[in-house]
Amino acid sequence: MRDPRYDVLFAPIKIGPVTAKNRFYQVPHCNGMGHAMPLAHAAMREMKAEGGWAVVSTEECEIHPSGDLTPYVEARLWDDRDIPALALMCDKVHAHGALAALELTHNGPTASNLYSREVLIAPSHQPTKYGYPHQARAMTLHDIREYRRWHREAAIRGKRAGMDIIYVYAAHDLSLAMHFLQRRRNQRSDAYGGPLENRVRLLREVLEDTKEAVGDTCAVALRFATEELLGPGGVELAEAQDIVGMLAELPDLWDVNLAAWYNDSVPSRFAAEGAQEPFIAFVKKTTTKPVVGVGRFTSPDTMVSQIKRGVLDMIGCARPSIADPFLPRKIEEGRIDDIRECIGCNICVTGDMTISPIRCTQNPTMGEEWRKGWHPERIAPKHSDCRVLVVGAGPAGLEATRALGQRGYAVTMVDARKEPGGRVARESRLPGLAEWARVRDWRIGQINKLANIAVYLDSALSAQDVLDFGAEHVVLATGCNWRRDGYGRSNGFAIQGLAGNPRVFTLDDLMDGRLPDGHAVVFDDDGFYYGSVAAELLRQHGCGVVHMTAGDTIAPFTQNNLAYPHIRKRMVELGIEALVSHNIAVFDGTRLMVEDVWTHRRHKLECDALVLITARLPDDTLYRELQQREAEWTEAGIRTLRCIGDAEAPGLIAHAVYAGHRYARELEEPFATNVPFRRHFHTAS
Ligand code: ADP
Ligand code: SF4
Repeated sequence: MRDPRYDVLFAPIKIGPVTAKNRFYQVPHCNGMGHAMPLAHAAMREMKAEGGWAVVSTEECEIHPSGDLTPYVEARLWDDRDIPALALMCDKVHAHGALAALELTHNGPTASNLYSREVLIAPSHQPTKYGYPHQARAMTLHDIREYRRWHREAAIRGKRAGMDIIYVYAAHDLSLAMHFLQRRRNQRSDAYGGPLENRVRLLREVLEDTKEAVGDTCAVALRFATEELLGPGGVELAEAQDIVGMLAELPDLWDVNLAAWYNDSVPSRFAAEGAQEPFIAFVKKTTTKPVVGVGRFTSPDTMVSQIKRGVLDMIGCARPSIADPFLPRKIEEGRIDDIRECIGCNICVTGDMTISPIRCTQNPTMGEEWRKGWHPERIAPKHSDCRVLVVGAGPAGLEATRALGQRGYAVTMVDARKEPGGRVARESRLPGLAEWARVRDWRIGQINKLANIAVYLDSALSAQDVLDFGAEHVVLATGCNWRRDGYGRSNGFAIQGLAGNPRVFTLDDLMDGRLPDGHAVVFDDDGFYYGSVAAELLRQHGCGVVHMTAGDTIAPFTQNNLAYPHIRKRMVELGIEALVSHNIAVFDGTRLMVEDVWTHRRHKLECDALVLITARLPDDTLYRELQQREAEWTEAGIRTLRCIGDAEAPGLIAHAVYAGHRYARELEEPFATNVPFRRHFHTAS
C-alpha cells in the first residue's frame, strides 16, 4: 500500500465550510465540451473523482450573455435553465466523495459576444483581446452593480447545482475581476480606478458578495494571477504581493498561478515541473488560508516537497489529471510506476483552441468516457485465445500491445530497431522534447508486467515472416518517413532537383544524426513543432539557420498548444531568422532561390543545406505486400490484418496512441454502427 512518505498528501484539509479528503486538487481546465456536451463533460469529470482527486473543478463558467465566449465552448450559468447541466457533474463527482468546484467568470473585453450580440464591457473603452473588429465600452457604476448581481446570482445557481466551492476568478487575463486590477485595461478615474486600493475594490466586493450569497455552505476560492510578465501594464509580482496582503483572509482558498494561459500551462519544451514556484511561494506566507498552485506535478516526491516546504497546501493539477485521472489513487495504492505522466505537449489545450472535445497524447480515453464508454483503467477482457502480432513498437504499436495485453490476449510485438519507441524514442532526443519518452517508458513499464506479451527487437519482419508467424490477428504499426521531394501543403507537386540531392535533409536525417554544416534553411510547410525544433537543433550544431515558411507566420499550429510565444522568443534568442510568405523556387545544392508567395518576386538565399519539413509518407510496404498475398492468409491462420497509426496516415503522437488503443478496444468486438460514438442531441426548447 501507500508509502508513508506520501501520507501528507492524504491528510484532509478544511476549505471554509467544506473539507477536502486529500491534497489532490483538479484545478479548472477547459475541455471543448462544456455547455454543449454536458453528459460527456460530467463523465470526464467523474473519472477524476473516481481516480481520487479531492476537488474536481469545472472550466471557466460564463455568468451572463454579455460575457459570451463563442466560439469557445465553456461552462455556462446564464439562468436557471443552465443548472441541470452542471448538476450532472456535481452528482457524478459527489458519488466518489469528491468536492465539485465552479469557476465563475465574466470575460469583459476578452469575451466575444459573437453569439449573444451584446455590447462588450470593460473597465475602460478598449479593443477586444482576440482581434474581433469591435470594441468594449467602459462600464458605468450601474454596470458594475449589475455585474456584481450577475455574479451573485450565478454563485447561487452554482450552489443549487450542488457545487461545494465557488470561484471568484481573477487570472489568465480572462475576467473582469482581473481586468480592473490591470493598469493597461483600467484607466478609470472613479473609485474603481487609479491607486491599487481602487483597482482592487471590485475584486474585494465580488469576494464579499459571493461569501454572503453562498458562503454558508460553499467555500469561496480566489483564482489569482501573481504575474503576467508584461511589465507595468500587467499584474506584476510586487503589486500581486500587495493584493494578496490586502485580501489575505477574505477567500477560503487561494488558487494562484501565472497569466496569461501560455505562461501558466507552459509546454514541457519551455518549462519544467514546478516552474511557477518563484512566483507563487510568497502567498502561503501572507495568508493562513489553504493555497493551491500548479506546476505540471507528476512526481509524488515533488508534491510532498511542495507541501513540506510550505509552498502549497494542495497540489493543483490540470494536465497531470488529464494524462492520468487515477494519479492520486495510484499514489495511495503504492503504484507509483503505474502513473501515466503528462508529457507537456499541450495537445489537450488544442481541443479547447479548436473547439473540439479534449484529447490527450498519454491518455487516449480522455474525452471518450461517455461517448465511447472508455475507462482509463479498465478494458473488456479478451473474447478468444487468438494470438495477435503487432509489428512496430512506436506509440501505436506500444499502446495496442499494452491494451491488448491488458485484455488478456497473447501478443507478440516486433520492431526492426534495437530500441522500442519508434518516433517517440527518436523525437525525444531532439532539443526540448525529452519528456516525449514518457509515452514509451510508461507503456514499456506496463508491458513488462504482463506475462502474456512477448517483445522482439532488432527484428525486421518481411511479409513471409508475418505469414510464417501464424497469428490470427496482425496489426502493422510501421510508422512513416518524412518526404524528400518538397511535396506538401504549399507545393502540390514534387519540387524538381530535391529528391536525391545530398544537400537536402529531412527530420529523419536529423534524428538519425545526419546533420548539415554551414548555412541551413529549414523549410517548414508543416506548421507545428517540428520546424522550430529542427531549427534549434541546427543552431546548436553551429549552423546559421533561416526558418522559412510559405505561410504568413512560422509554426501557426503552435498557437493552439500555447508554444507559439515561447517559440518566437527562443528563435530570436538563438539568432534564428524567420522568413515568412516564401516558398522554394529552385535549389540545386549550392543555390537557393526563394519566391515571395504574394508578389512572386524571387531572391537568392545563402544556403548549404535545405531541411524539408513538409509532409510524410506512410511506411506501408509490408501492409501492401501482405494485402497482395491475401490468398495465403487462411493457410497461414491470419483472420484480420490492419494498418494503424502513422503507417495508415501520419499524424501526431496522440493520433498514433489513440489508433493503437482503439485497435485494442475494438478487436473481436461487434462492429459499431455508422457513427461509432454517442452524441448529444438538442431537441428541447
Ligand atoms: P507510430 O507513430 O504509428 O507508432 P512509429 O514510426 O513511431 O509509428 O513506429 C514504427 C515502428 O515500426 C518503428 O520503430 C520501426 O522500426 C518499426 N517497423 C517498421 N517496419 C517494420 C518491419 N517490417 N518489421 C519490424 N518493425 C518495423
Ligand atoms: Fe499532458 Fe500532453 Fe496529455 Fe495534455 S495532452 S495532459 S500536455 S500528455
